[in-house]
Formats: sequence, C-alpha cells, structure tokens
Amino acid sequence: MGTVTAMTIDRSMKGRVSDSEWETRVNLAACYRLLAYHGLTDGTATHISARVPDEKDTFLLNPYGYLFEEITASSLVKINHKGEIVDGSTFPYNEAGFCIHSAVLKGRPEINSALHTHSDAGMAVSAQKCGLLPLSQTALRFYDNIAYHDYEGIADDLDEQKRLQKDFGNAYAMILKHHGLLTVGRTVAEAWLMIWDLEKACQSQVWALAGGMDNIDLPSEEVCKNTAAQYKRYYGNKPAGEAAWPAHLRMLDRLDPSYRD
Ligand SMILES: [Zn+2]
Repeated sequence: MGTVTAMTIDRSMKGRVSDSEWETRVNLAACYRLLAYHGLTDGTATHISARVPDEKDTFLLNPYGYLFEEITASSLVKINHKGEIVDGSTFPYNEAGFCIHSAVLKGRPEINSALHTHSDAGMAVSAQKCGLLPLSQTALRFYDNIAYHDYEGIADDLDEQKRLQKDFGNAYAMILKHHGLLTVGRTVAEAWLMIWDLEKACQSQVWALAGGMDNIDLPSEEVCKNTAAQYKRYYGNKPAGEAAWPAHLRMLDRLDPSYRD
C-alpha cells in the first residue's frame, strides 16, 4: 500500500469522545487499514466492529461506501443495538454488517471486537464439505474450536441473529458457509490475530487440496488435541495478539498515519 488519501471527514471526533473511545477508534481504524494492506478486503463490503468502552449498548462500524484504506478514527460510525446512529455521523452503515456485529456483541459480553471477511481462501473453504482441516500448526489453533453457520442469504434479516449466536457459541472463529469468515476478540488486536491465523489456515488448505484429498497427510488426533490445548494455555487467560499490535501500528504509521485522524 502506498500513501493513500484519507476520506474527507466532516469533523474530527478527537476531544469530542472519551479517551477510551478515541483509543478504540484508532485501533479499529488501524485494523481496517491492515486488512487493506494485506489484501483481505472486498471493495467496500465486509466490516469490523468494536464495542465502545464504558457504554452499554454502542459499537463502532465502518462508514459504508468507503474503501478500508480510506477509513479513519473519526469516520467510524457509532450505533446502538437498535441500529440508531448515536454520534451524529452523516455516514451510513451496512445493514448486513449491523445484523452480524450486533448479534455477536449482544450475545457475547466478554467480546469487544468482531471481524468479517470475504477473502478468496475463506470463501473457498466455506464451500468445502470437510470444513477446516487440521493440516498445519496454524490451523490447529482452531482444532475442535471453530463454529459453522449455514448460509441463509444476505444477512439483513434480524431473525438470523439468534441462529448466528447459537451457532457461534463460545468460539473465537466461525466459517460462514458459502460466504466468508468471522472472528472475534476481547480486543481489536485479538480479532485481527484470529482472522490472520484463520486466513492462513484457509490459504494453506486451498493450496494443499490442489493435490487432492488422497494426498493429504494429517497429524494424529493426539497431536491435534495436544497442540490445541497448548494454544489454550498460552492465550486462554489473556487476549492474544497484544504483543504484536504496536508493531502493526508502527508499520501503518510509516505507510500512512491518517488512520489516526
Ligand atoms: Zn459478508
């Protein structure tokens, strides 16, 4: 990604919101830029959300109609679980995005961020009957620890929210069949790390299956279980991805710090 021109914003939100909301806005805008940098976007579609700290029912979502490389901290739209814009933003938001992210954040009080992609590898694996295979160390993070949700059409029907919540359970990653990927985190950084690992696992699977299923060699069940348990021990009590997050921000700052606007 070269230097990009940030979207024109009608006003800066810095100083108009709490320090914790501003910090969340900067981290969330950074996450949008990271998806753009790593080629995980789908035009203006898909979305990442973050709960506004210390507020009961509000979360931030991208302004619909803008590329992720254009998104800034101030342009994120604050909405409540009724779908009402509560920060005076004049930008619209995506209705399917509201449906998915409101379902996740309402149903999981311990979760503060959700991230949805339509990556090529994610969509490819979402159509495979075998689901995500434990064929790499990265994929083993999700061994017996990934959810699936059947496709029902574009997710703009609020009735789908309860089925999404039920299917997701307590997982941190979900494959939306015939659609894409969805991860969550206790922080934006954790949701980012989860999508990074899930994306890598899906890419590896697509490449490995190019040689046919008969050619696939999987680790033993015992090794799969032990490795999944190792991941849980490392990250169970604290959000994953925090240590590397400042490095991602430094990279973005070198490329184009306008996400902080
Ligand atoms: Zn989608």
